[in-house]
Amino acid sequence: MLEKSKKLFERAQQFIPGGVNSPARAFKSVGGTPVFLEKAKGSILTDVDGKEYIDYVGSWGPMILGHAYEPVIEAVKETAAKSTSFGAPTEIEVKMAELVKQMVPGVDKIRMVNSGTEACMSAIRVARGYTGRDKVIKFEGNYHGHGDSFLINAGSGALTLGQPSSPGVTEGTAKDTLTANFNDLNSVKKLLNEYEGEVAAIILEPVAGNMGCIPPKKGFLSGLRELCDAHDVVLIFDEVMTGFRVAMGGAQERYGVTADLVTYGKIIGAGLPVGAFGGKQEIMDVVSPVGNVYQAGTLSGNPLAMAAGYALLSELYENPLHYDELEEKTVKLARGLKDVLEEHGVPFVLNQVGSMLSVFFTEEEEVIDFKTANTTDQAFFKAYFHQMLENGIYLPPSPFEALFLANSLTEDHLRKTIEAADESIKVALDN
Ligand code: PMP
Repeated sequence: MLEKSKKLFERAQQFIPGGVNSPARAFKSVGGTPVFLEKAKGSILTDVDGKEYIDYVGSWGPMILGHAYEPVIEAVKETAAKSTSFGAPTEIEVKMAELVKQMVPGVDKIRMVNSGTEACMSAIRVARGYTGRDKVIKFEGNYHGHGDSFLINAGSGALTLGQPSSPGVTEGTAKDTLTANFNDLNSVKKLLNEYEGEVAAIILEPVAGNMGCIPPKKGFLSGLRELCDAHDVVLIFDEVMTGFRVAMGGAQERYGVTADLVTYGKIIGAGLPVGAFGGKQEIMDVVSPVGNVYQAGTLSGNPLAMAAGYALLSELYENPLHYDELEEKTVKLARGLKDVLEEHGVPFVLNQVGSMLSVFFTEEEEVIDFKTANTTDQAFFKAYFHQMLENGIYLPPSPFEALFLANSLTEDHLRKTIEAADESIKVALDN
């Protein structure tokens, strides 16, 4: 197993830091060799050794209708033949902005960028420019890309200033990032009171996906909305994972709370490099060239990425049944996994929102924040993960990532996954 992957990983490590172009791919938290992939169709991945897997990563979100989705492939081919980039405006950018506006009512205006990181960095700059304030509040365990302002750990007390979590991030940057606890409005209130008039924005994953899937508690998002209104703070939903996934209009639609700014990522490009930020007209109008908050990009709104994303999003828009089908499949998988875990007497919490799902191997009653997420038994996950992989199930290689389901999953795939989980749990328990 993994013969060619092992050889490629050895070669890769000589010339690429850690052998990968993004750390999450290195299998650091589960150990072993990352699987080098060759191709995929629908929900089936094929690695360089020819082994097939049922995919529950979906490129971390965008493959909501499966890999190599025909309309996307066609759109890319047709567009590529006319040039891959102009650095000048094109019609597809206009169509894309109009389509997003139809799918997500709160988004008056949208600006395309090239990654989720760029989208979040830009949204923060816009919020600071709009409010004339410097500080931002983020939540422990949420991820917003690798912009300097986000690579900050909470200080030791609730009201202390942040510390850089990566060398290369300055103390000066860290002092403007405050960290609150997810699902804990009081921790936010404290910061807003302590730094009254200094906070530009609150940014969060409305459904956390980067500490495993953690839904917002009832009243959490609406409570944040009220706090932002009361303190004139810009509310930013980072919907890089949840956008066009937990509902057509993302978490804003699912929970009925409208943010001031929203960031999107990968799914907007159907897997090509894209991000976007958008929101209320009044705020978006501070962005250059209308306003003076600078933001730019040679490849932003790239024709290939726009054509691919437009093909995917218009299918979701025209056939919203995809969302019902996906949710039904996810509920079915969740039920199957629960049965297996209960049969084996493994303590667990299973969180599911729409087509995102995580199993935490923990004795806790509920997983609601970074602290409770961290109680998951990582050694057990590791054993389970590797056994699932061997059984042909490709899970996110970390206990703190959510599964992303695709509507290309069939009944047969779900059945095989539940059977594989049954066997894998047995093996993990024997380890
Ligand atoms: N925000 C969230 C919620 C994410 O999950 C991610 C990446 N997974 C990002 C931002 C950063 O996006 P990118 O990797 O495209 O820079």
